[in-house]
Amino acid sequence: MTGGAGYIGSHMVLALRDAGEKAVVLDNLSTGFRWAVPEDVPFVAGDFGDEDLVSETLARHEVTAIAHFAAKIVVPESVADPLGYYHNNTAKARQLIECAVDAGVEHFIFSSTAAVYGDPDHNPVTEDETLKPVSPYGRSKLMVEWMLQDTAKAHPLRYAILRYFNVAGADPQGRSGQSTPNATHLIKVAVQAALGHRNGMEVFGTDYPTQDGSCVRDYIQVTDLAQAHMDALNYLRSGGDSITCNCGYAQGYSVLEVIDVVKNVSGVDFPVRISGRRPGDPSAIVAGNARIKSTLNWQPRYNDLKQIVQQALDWERRLHNRKAG
Ligand code: UDP
Repeated sequence: MTGGAGYIGSHMVLALRDAGEKAVVLDNLSTGFRWAVPEDVPFVAGDFGDEDLVSETLARHEVTAIAHFAAKIVVPESVADPLGYYHNNTAKARQLIECAVDAGVEHFIFSSTAAVYGDPDHNPVTEDETLKPVSPYGRSKLMVEWMLQDTAKAHPLRYAILRYFNVAGADPQGRSGQSTPNATHLIKVAVQAALGHRNGMEVFGTDYPTQDGSCVRDYIQVTDLAQAHMDALNYLRSGGDSITCNCGYAQGYSVLEVIDVVKNVSGVDFPVRISGRRPGDPSAIVAGNARIKSTLNWQPRYNDLKQIVQQALDWERRLHNRKAG
């Protein structure tokens, strides 16, 4: 697994470990943390674009499936640094897929994104909707989807492309969570504001064509998302065809609604400033999830924004104490 020391990858490590599966993590620790991977899980420090290291790791650990989490994921950063995103998310992923083919790895699970849809014409959006990403981030991921589709036609590799909507929350047992220091994601930022770890927050645009003018997103809890990967792995292992699935709850919340929930759950009325639109933001995107439920038999367990926010608050406190301690 690449990116196993990161936010979503570390939850996948826990899911695999809880299921008694063997895993090996390859992570360059650029944004991940060594402590996020349990000591009894083999860890290789390095870059997934390092072909020699990847090939050696695949052989040494007799890898039969790859879950590729490692990526740059910040939409506005991708607008400012498109070539960095195309290098890391696209060009290096091509090398990784080639290593997988050369090593005879037959199952590939790819972390894609709702950003491949751009601003969809219909919500909830289904997997067959026209793909028109509006950010370099979305395009950097869509190109990998195309590479996987073509590779699967030419080689004995089957893939599960999982298009994540907005991932949030933390491990219910408190073992991992969103730990990036300069996180830009809404729930993380709002939780930091509630705990006084930052001086309030901004809302990026209230002039969108939505019910209250702020952007609408579908927030999926991270353990539910890790479970989607487990379900995809089992599906591929039992002979399932290559598949592309949205990962979300088919439930949209506006930025202002999310902030209200964070204020209510935390009991803190932190300052919120309204500012201008952020580049690359679609106005509303909500996941159609019929396919992942019917084909992968995915059964979400934490579809409750209050609970997600509570987990994020609990994790943020823990993280803060860890740094202080
Ligand atoms: N957002 C915001 N203030 C923040 C962070 C995010 O208003 O401090 C908004 C952002 O403009 C978007 C939504 O919250 O409309 C979700 O943004 P996030 O960065 O969490 O995820 P994205 O949808 O970009 O992947």
